[in-house]
Amino acid sequence: MGFENTGRVWTPSTFPTYPATIKPPTWATSITLHHCGAPSLAQRPNGFTAQHLANLRHFYEVNKGWSSAPHLFVDDDQLWGMCEFTKRGIHAVSFNATSIGIEVLGDYNVENPKSGRGLACWRTTAQATKALADWLKLPINENTILFHRDDPETKKSCPGTKVLKPWVLDLINSAATPTNEPIPDKTDKPTLDVTLANNQWRFIGERWCIPVRAYLLKKGVADATIAANLKKKGNQFFYGPELLEGAFFDIPTSATWAPVHELVTLVP
Ligand SMILES: [Zn+2]
Repeated sequence: MGFENTGRVWTPSTFPTYPATIKPPTWATSITLHHCGAPSLAQRPNGFTAQHLANLRHFYEVNKGWSSAPHLFVDDDQLWGMCEFTKRGIHAVSFNATSIGIEVLGDYNVENPKSGRGLACWRTTAQATKALADWLKLPINENTILFHRDDPETKKSCPGTKVLKPWVLDLINSAATPTNEPIPDKTDKPTLDVTLANNQWRFIGERWCIPVRAYLLKKGVADATIAANLKKKGNQFFYGPELLEGAFFDIPTSATWAPVHELVTLVP
């Protein structure tokens, strides 16, 4: 079954750390780019939210009854997971068996990919595509970077008539592998009096989360104290008697994460 990554969200800076934790699949010899068509940029003035991705998952999994879907959804500044990159997705009849599928927010039959929000979405896509191609050890060329419309089984113009292959290849080639870029400001990004690396911040479930242990260690709490207090009971996490309502276990980082606002309340 697919859909394992629904709920994960990355920035172009944090994204490469995720595939680095999993083994590249041998079946993936290309990356296929799509546009959503609907929703368009105009229909998502602030990009995607976690709820939008949950709705998309429900559509593919329940309404369509599919076992999988595209792997990744991209908006102006974030990358939203859906299906695990090691497993085959469903997005283009002729390419599903050999290609990772990425969906770009917008309708590029109508909307402009070369300026404003359209360009932001395609730059973000180029960075993700570059990171995935590096991970898969694929060169960037017209055989490895496919458009949905390259599939002889479709009559669709996807990813939009205004998007041309040479332009996208240039964009991907010029996408620096972002590593230490600052995380884009979110209106509610809290300030902490401890320093945590960029890859220890994630905007997930509509709020900023950090690893519980890393935060507490920075606050001077002893490792043994953390181990004695941080407990999982069923699907709930506790620190001592206190329920951590927003905590979750993240398999790739082997760490329990929680919203910043909860941890600051727990140990200021
Ligand atoms: Zn498509």
